[in-house]
Amino acid sequence: MSNVIVIGAGIGGLAAGCYARLNGFEVTVLEGSERAGGLCTSWNRGGYTFDGCIRHLAGLKPETALYRMWSDLGSVPARAFFPEELVKVMDESGRELTVYYDTGKLEEEMKRIAPEDSDTIREYIKAIQLLSSIELMEVGFWKFSDWLKKIPILLKSRKYSRVSMEKFAEKFSSPVLKRFFPVIQYGWKNIPLTLHLAVMAGSGRKMYGRYAGGSYQFSRAIEERYLSLGGDLRLGARVERILTDNDAVTGVQLESGEEIAADHVISDVYGYDTFIKLLDDRYLTDQLRSIYSKPIDRMMMAIHVSLGIDKDLQDMPNSMAFFPDKPIEIAGEKHEMLSILNYGYDPAMAPEGKTSLKVIYDTSYSYWEELFEDEQSYEKEKRQIAENTIQALERVFPSLETAIEVIDVATPITTKRFTANGQGYGSKEDFSLKDILRGFLNRPLRLKSLKNFYVIGHSVGGANLYGCAAMGRNAIKSLCKKEKKKFIAS
Ligand SMILES: Cc1cc2nc3c(=O)[nH]c(=O)nc-3n(C[C@H](O)[C@H](O)[C@H](O)COP(=O)(O)OP(=O)(O)OC[C@H]3O[C@@H](n4cnc5c(N)ncnc54)[C@H](O)[C@@H]3O)c2cc1C
Repeated sequence: MSNVIVIGAGIGGLAAGCYARLNGFEVTVLEGSERAGGLCTSWNRGGYTFDGCIRHLAGLKPETALYRMWSDLGSVPARAFFPEELVKVMDESGRELTVYYDTGKLEEEMKRIAPEDSDTIREYIKAIQLLSSIELMEVGFWKFSDWLKKIPILLKSRKYSRVSMEKFAEKFSSPVLKRFFPVIQYGWKNIPLTLHLAVMAGSGRKMYGRYAGGSYQFSRAIEERYLSLGGDLRLGARVERILTDNDAVTGVQLESGEEIAADHVISDVYGYDTFIKLLDDRYLTDQLRSIYSKPIDRMMMAIHVSLGIDKDLQDMPNSMAFFPDKPIEIAGEKHEMLSILNYGYDPAMAPEGKTSLKVIYDTSYSYWEELFEDEQSYEKEKRQIAENTIQALERVFPSLETAIEVIDVATPITTKRFTANGQGYGSKEDFSLKDILRGFLNRPLRLKSLKNFYVIGHSVGGANLYGCAAMGRNAIKSLCKKEKKKFIAS
């Protein structure tokens, strides 16, 4: 049986490792940092757990393909939380919109704000209901017969993949809905409406939910499953080069100089690093070179201001899109809307009666890279961000400042340091239909010019946790096919 090296113990890499073991391959996962999980992480400070990742975990509905995959990977949560709302939007004049997953309640709520927009609201509600009859996030698991059954629905909903949240909002005549609607899906105005509809439809059917216990627990569960299957995990083992001979991979070389031979190499490492740093340039197509050699500066959800609060906030919404009285300046940019995540639903995230709360901002990588050169300025900016955020939040949480016990600000530099994900993580703001499909199909990326090499993970289309895990799974499936073995899933 041939042996496999997986570079990177992110969710994709750990999943590839588990499926490799389930199918009898010898496998070593090489992880550059001192703990596995990559971006799917959380950390503890002063008795609180602050989360760096999961807001929506797909695959929580038993009997579905994604649920079976998480079962294979040992990560079906013991506890999950299904909020009744995606988000509550609040503006400076006290206007509020709760985006309920229940379409009946949502329709009523939207019509309360904008009865004049009844027709557009109906169209939006019908679009959610249409996608509720299929699990769009399971496209990558569909068999031919599923495609035949589901294609009429895909065709009907195709028009929503061509329109962004912002563009759809133009259809409302109410100025409130025009302003609120574009920010309801994580504040991402430019994503195709389809992505939002899929989250609404999936959450309404409890396919999506919030993970209880912190994202690190989730990745830790997969790591433990991998180890229990007899997988070899080496932490602190940073790969420097992918070794090749005769246009086929032969192994990897670590930073320490050690060389490890392999029949197959799967890279779960951030695209720029895989293609530009680890691999010889001659294997790249022009297209790959042009996509990955220019990292994107804009980073979404990249500043995390986490607060440990001596207050029980479990009665507040799990997520809030909040327009402050005046735009607040954060990291050289004016922010008109704050994305607040309230973990009050999860007792594991804070001591009893207290709450872990987070505000996230988009930012630009270069700003932080430059600032980090002077440690004092970097720390000063972090303090300033926390101060501005807390001040703005006082409107929603009166006397917040006195209840704060812990403040933690993570920046793109923090993410880079702990997960090796640098510039350009998920920063793509213009999605094409092709991007969406590629994201949903979860195919690993392969190079025509280099045999036995697979690239998986968020920066080559995995997009989210289930996508990355499914890519890892599909890499092993394709390896089994190559070796004429029946793929074993569990
Ligand atoms: C703020 C935020 C919120 C998110 N929310 C959600 C959500 O709600 N739901 C969801 O499904 N997804 C969410 N995601 C996306 C999800 O976290 C990612 O898609 C997923 O975790 C990426 O996994 P990956 O397999 O691509 O690996 P990564 O997480 O990128 O891990 C790669 C690993 O490779 C290691 N590595 C890098 N270079 C080397 C090297 N040279 N040698 C050895 N090891 C190396 C790194 O240390 C790292 O551990 C979120 C992401 C972020 C940032």
